[in-house]
Amino acid sequence: MQQTRKQNNKPPTERLIIVSNRLPLAIEKGADKQWQASPSSGGLITALTPILRNRDGVWLGWHGTLEDVNINKLLAASGKKLGYKLKPIALTEEEFRQYYLGFSNEVIWPLFHDLQSHCNFDPAYWVSYQSVNRTFARVTAANVRDNDYIWVHDYHLMLMAKELRAIGAKQKIGFFLHTPFPPPDIFIKLPWRLQILEALLEYDLIGLQTMHDRNNFIHCVESLIKGSHFDSRRQIATASRAGHEVKIGSFPISIDFKEFAHQALRKETRERASQINESFHNCQLILGVDRLDYSKGILQKLLAFRNALERFSDLRGKISLIQIVVPSRETIPAYQGLKTEIEGLVSEINGKFTQPGWIPIHYIFRTLGRSELLAYYRAAEIGLVTPLKDGMNLVAKEYCAANTDKNGVLILSEFAGAATQKRRHEIQVNPFCITKRVKGVS
Ligand code: UDP
Repeated sequence: MQQTRKQNNKPPTERLIIVSNRLPLAIEKGADKQWQASPSSGGLITALTPILRNRDGVWLGWHGTLEDVNINKLLAASGKKLGYKLKPIALTEEEFRQYYLGFSNEVIWPLFHDLQSHCNFDPAYWVSYQSVNRTFARVTAANVRDNDYIWVHDYHLMLMAKELRAIGAKQKIGFFLHTPFPPPDIFIKLPWRLQILEALLEYDLIGLQTMHDRNNFIHCVESLIKGSHFDSRRQIATASRAGHEVKIGSFPISIDFKEFAHQALRKETRERASQINESFHNCQLILGVDRLDYSKGILQKLLAFRNALERFSDLRGKISLIQIVVPSRETIPAYQGLKTEIEGLVSEINGKFTQPGWIPIHYIFRTLGRSELLAYYRAAEIGLVTPLKDGMNLVAKEYCAANTDKNGVLILSEFAGAATQKRRHEIQVNPFCITKRVKGVS
C-alpha cells in the first residue's frame, strides 16, 4: 500500500531530448517518387538508442532535404521502429549554405581543428548561425516538458542553451562537442569569440572529448571573460556565473568494442578478409579510412607513403596502401580541391611505382558498408590513422576491435583524441612529419 502511494507521488519521468543538426536517418525519394527513410548508423546513435527507448526519448534535427516536404507520417513510422520520437526541423537553402556549409563548416570546423587558414569569417554566416540556433531552440521548446533533460550535440548548435533560456526554458541542458576545442591563441581569431563562450556557459553541463579539450575550453574562458574562474581540481570542473553553475568534463566517445570484435570474427567477414589478402598477392596491407576532409591529413599520409617508397626500394612490391576516402561536404570548394589533390597524388605515386602485379595505392572513393569495412580492418596488418587533428577518431578504435588476430599495428596520429587512450600494438606519430621511420614497421 505504502509502496503504491510512493509510486503515485513520483514526479513524471525525465525524458531525454536529443538535439543535433541532423536527425539519425537519411530520407530520399525512391523510384516510385515516394519519400523513404533509412536509419543512419554511428557510435552516437548506437549508444543513445537504448537510453532514448527507455526514457520515452525524442530526437530533434534537420531531416536532410531542402525540398518543402511534409514527412511527419514517414518520421512517425520510422520513430515507431526506432523506439523513440523524431521531430524534424526544416532549413531553407540559404540557411543550409550560410549556417551549415558556411559558419559550421567554413568557420568553426577548421578553427576548432587548429586550421585557421581555412576559415572564412563571413559576417553573413554568423547572422544565419544565430538565426538557425534560435529556430532549433523554438522548435525544441515547443516539444519539451518541464522534467525533460535536453542534450544538444556538436558545433552546429553552440548557442542553443542561450536561445532556450531567452524564451524561458527551465529544463537542464547539456552539450557535447564532438570536435576538439582549440587553445586560446587559436580561439581568439574568432570574431564572435565572446558570444560563443558566453552562450556555451549557459549550458548546465558541457562534455568534451578529452582533458586537453576541457582544459583548452577553461583557458579560453578564463583568459577572455574577466573575473571568470573554474574550480578544475576534479575531473569535472565547475564555474559559477550570475548564480548559474556550469560543469565541464571530458567524456571520450567510444564504440561497442565487443560488437565490432564479434562481427569481425564472423565467417563471412573472415572469408572476405582472406579474399582481399589473396587479391593483393599477400602483400602487407596498410589501411587508411578517412572522410574527405583536410583535417584527416590524407595528403600528408600519401606524401609519407611516397617518401617511404622512394627511400626504401625493398618495400616496393611488398606493401600496398588501401586508402578509403568517404565522400563528404563536396559542395564546399575546399573539399572539391582536396579531392582533386588527393587523386592527383594517388595517380602520380601509382604512375611512378607500379610494376606488373603490384600497384602501390588501392584508392576507394565511396562509403563502404559495415561488413565490407570490417573485412578490410581484418585484412590489413597496419591501420594508418593520421589526422592532423581529430576530436576522437572512431576508425582507430574500430580497427583495434576488428583486428582480432592481434597481429595488426595501429599507427595513430598523436593529435587524434583517441591517442589519449593508449593501446597495446599502437605507435603514435606526428602526421606532419612525412620522413620519420617507424620502428618495428618496415
Ligand atoms: N565508416 C563507414 N564506412 C566507410 C568508412 C567509414 O561506415 O566506408 C564509418 C566508420 O565505421 C566510423 C565513421 O565512419 O564509425 C567515421 O568516424 P570517425 O570518428 O573516424 O571520423 P568522422 O568521419 O566522424 O570525422
